[in-house]
Amino acid sequence: MNSGAIPTGETHRQSGLGIQPSLFNDANQASLNSAITAVTQLVGKTLGSVEQPFSGISPAQLAKEFRAVDLEQPLDDLGAVLQEISRLYLRDAVYFHHPDYLAHLNPPVLIESIAAELLQAAFNTAVDTWDQSGGATLIEQKLVDWTLSRIGFEPGKADGVFTSGGTQSNLMGMLLARDHYCEAHFSGHRVQTQGLPLEAAKFRIFTSSVSHFSIQKSAALLGLGFDAVIPVAVDTQFRMDPRALAAALLASRERGEIPIAVVATMGTTDFGSIDPIEDISALCRQYQLWLHADAAYGCGLLVSEKYRSRIEGIDLADSVTVDYHKSFLQPVACSAFIARNHSHLDCITYHADYLNPLSQSEEGTPNLVCKSLQTTRRFDALKLWFSLRRHGASAIGDAFTHVIDMAAAVYHRFAEEQSIEFAQPPQMSTLVFRYTTDNPQDIEQQNRINSSIRKTLTNSGRAMIASTKIDGCVYLKFTLLNPSTELEAISSVLETIISTGDALGAEEKMLNAVGATSRAQSTEAY
Ligand SMILES: *Cc1c(COP(=O)(O)O)cnc(C)c1O
Repeated sequence: MNSGAIPTGETHRQSGLGIQPSLFNDANQASLNSAITAVTQLVGKTLGSVEQPFSGISPAQLAKEFRAVDLEQPLDDLGAVLQEISRLYLRDAVYFHHPDYLAHLNPPVLIESIAAELLQAAFNTAVDTWDQSGGATLIEQKLVDWTLSRIGFEPGKADGVFTSGGTQSNLMGMLLARDHYCEAHFSGHRVQTQGLPLEAAKFRIFTSSVSHFSIQKSAALLGLGFDAVIPVAVDTQFRMDPRALAAALLASRERGEIPIAVVATMGTTDFGSIDPIEDISALCRQYQLWLHADAAYGCGLLVSEKYRSRIEGIDLADSVTVDYHKSFLQPVACSAFIARNHSHLDCITYHADYLNPLSQSEEGTPNLVCKSLQTTRRFDALKLWFSLRRHGASAIGDAFTHVIDMAAAVYHRFAEEQSIEFAQPPQMSTLVFRYTTDNPQDIEQQNRINSSIRKTLTNSGRAMIASTKIDGCVYLKFTLLNPSTELEAISSVLETIISTGDALGAEEKMLNAVGATSRAQSTEAY
């Protein structure tokens, strides 16, 4: 085995193992320092050479590079690994920090958070139990407590845990909803021990037609199935229509189904729309349903002084999803699930003798594994801690406020533009729009051109944008999360979209004309 060219230093403990000089310990500090320096230099070099958010390479082209890589043949040293990874990863990575990255809910990250990632990776703390984490458990707990009080939940009564993302948090929300319903309505039936009751086939979850697909996935994982999720109509602003919810609940009951939960989205992925949680909550109380608030995206409003009022009523929920890796400028993964009443998290608890015996809970040892779906779990709280301790919540909130204002500014600048049609005025920091052709009745053509615009932009790497569909029509989408992106840069991408659309339209016209001529000619030949 190759011991590599990492400087091993005089102090390197002698052993027959080639891996020895690379182990993280006090004897190998020189290796550690040089590895960190080399990576820092590579980051700097890459950062300095990024000109656009993406190279535009196709998956097939890039896959060719991987064929030559033989994982059975290690490279000589870290330098060689870095050189190879520049080609396999960095050259064609998608750069979220670039101002022309406008596609999905990926923010540029805070430098303090990157530092925290290094620190947590070095000591590799696992936050499942106190005996693997010590202070890290308390750091996570304090951030959970901070988040729940921002939501407006009662300290001491509410509780939560960090998760891998909004998907896992939503799964937890649906799990608690299902298990709570069974316990409350089927004389103490505990799904955790007894499995699903027969009636579970009739369970239904209500969520708006534009909510996140993880609700459907959760229903499937929980043994209820995709079809247990009933989509509720939205208004013209893509917010759940409470009258439609009331009608859907009634109709469901009349069909003999059993509504168990409603999911209110506090910031939909596409439109940033916020469901009217107060009206929804009233219906949940009437029907005795669990109310889950999916604030994966909208959680940034919790720290925005200017826009906090937009999620007024989030404390009416029984559980909440927050994704710090979306609107708190945190690296993936950094998310949390919060329950209004900590006792509801019991349905996740399992006491393993070798890990978190009941006796430890009784002694008051804080083992976060008792409320997590995961066992070994990263210390993802540290980066949020660094950010809050360094900048405070209001600085993060100001960044979110800024991108919301930016979306409004872009909308106002282009609202009158002939060839751009917005789906609706922005409600948070996304903009959904389409390029309109001079023949807007031809939906097929319009869809084709809008899809081609996105492909053209991606293939050139000039800008990264997203797309979505509304009633079968293709729309383009900007998601703004980068507080340093300015109006001019975004406007320039929109101008590129318009000119690309114009060019694609002209090309189609020309091809049609050529097609018509050649058809005419071939008809003549007969
Ligand atoms: C992104 C998103 C999710 C899923 O979160 P992940 O962190 O990607 O798992 C759930 N709900 C909404 C509204 C989202 O925008």
